[in-house]
Amino acid sequence: MQIYNTQSRKKEEFVPLVPGQVGIYCCGPTVYNYFHIGNARPFIVFDTLRRYFEYQGMKVTFVQNFTDIDDKMIKKANEEGITVKELGERFIAEYYKDADALGIERATVNPRATQHIEEIIALIQKLEANGLAYACPNGDVYYNTQAFAGYGKLSGQNLEDLESGARVDVDPNKRHPMDFAVWKAQKPGEPAWESPWGMGRPGWHIECSAMSMKYLGETFDIHCGGKDLVFPHHENEIAQSEGATGHPFVRYWMHNGFINVDNEKMSKSAGNFFTVRDIAKDFDLEAVRMFMLSAHYRSPINFSREMIEQAKASLDRLYTAKDNYEFLLKFAGDGELRPEDQELMDAASIARDNFEDAMDDDLNTADAIGSIFELVRKANTQINDQTPAVVIRKVLDTLVELTGVMGLLTRKEEKADTDVNALVEARAKARAEKNWAESDRLRDLIQSMGYVIKDTKQGQQVTKAM
Ligand SMILES: [Zn+2]
Repeated sequence: MQIYNTQSRKKEEFVPLVPGQVGIYCCGPTVYNYFHIGNARPFIVFDTLRRYFEYQGMKVTFVQNFTDIDDKMIKKANEEGITVKELGERFIAEYYKDADALGIERATVNPRATQHIEEIIALIQKLEANGLAYACPNGDVYYNTQAFAGYGKLSGQNLEDLESGARVDVDPNKRHPMDFAVWKAQKPGEPAWESPWGMGRPGWHIECSAMSMKYLGETFDIHCGGKDLVFPHHENEIAQSEGATGHPFVRYWMHNGFINVDNEKMSKSAGNFFTVRDIAKDFDLEAVRMFMLSAHYRSPINFSREMIEQAKASLDRLYTAKDNYEFLLKFAGDGELRPEDQELMDAASIARDNFEDAMDDDLNTADAIGSIFELVRKANTQINDQTPAVVIRKVLDTLVELTGVMGLLTRKEEKADTDVNALVEARAKARAEKNWAESDRLRDLIQSMGYVIKDTKQGQQVTKAM
């Protein structure tokens, strides 16, 4: 598989550190609110990356943190009159609700910053010992960027350029304007932990260095997140981790592109800021997942109501195809393969090959989804009540497996409930007796209960309306 590595600025063949295993760290949400659609993109994209590795038979350790202490957390908790811990618990629970609805698999570990204070302090002490961190009289501890030779290598900048672009009102305690806090001294009313530098709390960047290395080792395979995290967050993670260990930190850096709303940058002030929870009021979140994966992850993507409606229509086509194949399979026999059946068997193999080629090319989910639709288009015109079971089975299995890698078509099969089944039976009886008025009455009744009914040669096909 080829992966575009932000650090080398080119596609590289992915070779895991340990054959058959992959370690991935993805920066998670700050749990002070519901997450917005910009956050949802990396979560969906890199969940798909993980699923693809698993499809290839690799053992994936997927780590995604919860930032549960920072300025935003403290401000929001104060506004609501609750503790930072209570706020964190609440929005971690809300995160899981939205993530589940988006089809995001649970991470192997979701470490929280506040539960890794010991590891964070140990890491800062290492940096201090290596001359890479310095404590200020007020109890803040800064990273010493000038002492780390590789500073700027991820974002392709150097300290001089960065310095000239820095704000003028720099904290007088800093030795260089780009130095950043790894430990912040306690201010009145803030939660704090004991440390060698007095009561305080970790800076944001240090938690990801400490927790990624704890769960994945000092050097690991893939670190990912949104493009906005390249600088300074990931740049600082490299400085901290490599500065402390002396080893390379991450082997492949992956970053997804921005998301615009109605062709404009999403911002609270522009009023086009959506949380996933807002979208869920109007849309099945599986359609949001479909939408996000319909573009290459590095391309910018434009979010609009129309785009989600389109994605929903595409998703419905896939569900309908799956329902149809399942229904036909129930009645299919073991007949000889006709030339068109053989052709369809081949089409399923070709779809899989094309799917893998697309995914191997830097996770091109757009083309991978295209290959699924190509199969569905062909199967829809060719599958009929003469198609042997083995053919339908192959098309169906291919469809289910490949959409599964995308995290799509995972909605639980909703079996018609007992009442509906009784009505369907009654309608079959009415039809056998050629009582069309009763048959129509029952059909309307069944449809009013949220089901779609189709009369086929094999009988009534009942599916839940979408
Ligand atoms: Zn992070």
